[in-house]
Amino acid sequence: MNSETVNKQPDCDVLIVGAGLVGASLALRLADCGLRIGLLDKGALERGISWAQPQAGPVDVSQFDPRVVALTAQSQRLLAELGVWQQLDTLRRCDYAHMRVWEQDGTGQVEFHAREVHEPSLGTIVENSLLLNALYGSIAAHNETAQAEGRAPLALFSERSVVALERDSERSRPISRLRCDDGSEVSARLVIAADGGNSPLRSLAGFETREWSYGQKAIVTTIRTALPHAHTALQRFLTTGPLAYLPLADGVDSGPGRHCSIVWSADEARADELMALDEAAFNAQLTAAMEGALGGVEASATRFAFPLRQRHAKRYVEGNVVLVGDAAHTIHPLAGQGVNLGLADVEALAEQIEAGIKAGRQPEDPTPLARYQRQRTGPNLAMMALMEAFKRGFGEQPIALRWLRNAGLNAVNAFSPLRKALTRTAR
Ligand SMILES: Cc1cc2nc3c(=O)[nH]c(=O)nc-3n(C[C@H](O)[C@H](O)[C@H](O)COP(=O)(O)OP(=O)(O)OC[C@H]3O[C@@H](n4cnc5c(N)ncnc54)[C@H](O)[C@@H]3O)c2cc1C
Repeated sequence: MNSETVNKQPDCDVLIVGAGLVGASLALRLADCGLRIGLLDKGALERGISWAQPQAGPVDVSQFDPRVVALTAQSQRLLAELGVWQQLDTLRRCDYAHMRVWEQDGTGQVEFHAREVHEPSLGTIVENSLLLNALYGSIAAHNETAQAEGRAPLALFSERSVVALERDSERSRPISRLRCDDGSEVSARLVIAADGGNSPLRSLAGFETREWSYGQKAIVTTIRTALPHAHTALQRFLTTGPLAYLPLADGVDSGPGRHCSIVWSADEARADELMALDEAAFNAQLTAAMEGALGGVEASATRFAFPLRQRHAKRYVEGNVVLVGDAAHTIHPLAGQGVNLGLADVEALAEQIEAGIKAGRQPEDPTPLARYQRQRTGPNLAMMALMEAFKRGFGEQPIALRWLRNAGLNAVNAFSPLRKALTRTAR
């Protein structure tokens, strides 16, 4: 470090590394808080879509992004406050009001209805790339307005990966300098790692994690079924892992929705077998695995497989580096809660930073950051424990356990208050 770097103002007060769904939402949430906010990603940080835009006429399985998220009402509220939800074309987001969960070789089943919790829907399925595109659109619009009004725009550092982190202090305030693979350096008082489950920044900053492999891969793709999905999400627990059908909106003039995004989590060997099948054989296996639900599978798009890990950082804050989203916690996709937890992190961290500023604190002040950590660790761990219990419960083989699971599912289904409580948790 030379004297020039010592005396230079940091490039940002707060630098968010990773502009996925969580990092981009956090940047927008903090955009008007009076601090200089930066957003850095190895990608391009601008609108541009690789999947088809909503269009008139029938749609095809290949036109949907195979990665989708089921967003809760709480997540939707945050995205609406950021002006993002309104940008999502209603023709490409699908509310679901009913969910049915049942298991292989069993009689247990549980159903969740939005009407039981007096809500219009249990959640909404949105394609990841359309949501990210809307977030980048809102960032561009924010920057245009800020520039026109003479305010600081969000500083965008695109197409560069962080490869090294130097932590220092200057006039008794911490400063972090991030070196990138293009040779550039970006400095900030507070650095937020939103760079995903494998978070390079988390490793560079020396955070410890507890993690293990589920020994499963999640296969995702889009399917067309013979019968309409009627805005119902389906999940069947197979002995090799859970399989979900998530209803999709079909666009203009194409009749009742017959497209679903699927997430088929299976033991690695089974997942590799399924990935190797041709389309007709895969559709047949899928139809059988879902017991012919929705009249069977007529077509499926290209498949993608993701290895599944459970991971939780022991701490979310180390000095002036903070973790959010999958960088802090990665969970099994069986309840579709990953982004929802990440967006709850966004809300909690932004509130604490804003409260700190109002109280005259610096953005890197440890007190609000510690509050964020306390606020989020409990709910994130609770959701991870719930997913683990479901996953382990349904993966076990002994008949006695299976009977208990069935009895448990039916008990949940028969006992309305418990079902309502679970429905609220998942919303
Ligand atoms: C099969 C599957 C299905 C899922 N379904 C759901 C669902 O229905 N609902 C739900 O809520 N969640 C779901 N999830 C989880 C959800 O996808 C994740 O929780 C979410 O994508 C995490 O968002 P993130 O922004 O934290 O991380 P990411 O989306 O991983 O974004 C990380 C960003 O960091 C950038 N980056 C990485 N490294 C660097 C670097 N060194 N330098 C600069 N930039 C970097 C990347 O380019 C990327 O833009 C699912 C996950 C899987 C695997």
